[in-house]
Amino acid sequence: MKLICPECGAEIILEDKPVENEIVECSECGAQLVVKQVNPEIILEVLEDIGEDWGE
Ligand SMILES: [Zn+2]
Repeated sequence: MKLICPECGAEIILEDKPVENEIVECSECGAQLVVKQVNPEIILEVLEDIGEDWGE
């Protein structure tokens, strides 16, 4: 199935239907995308870099 990267608009091809909270990576821009929702349609959201301290 095909998804659209919300970051760069490239097509992301997946062999299987994703599940909620699955992380997929866009091969075009390298963005990490989390599957927020699968029904009634699949919604992807860009995963922010968390867990790394950029401020120090
Ligand atoms: Zn992308």
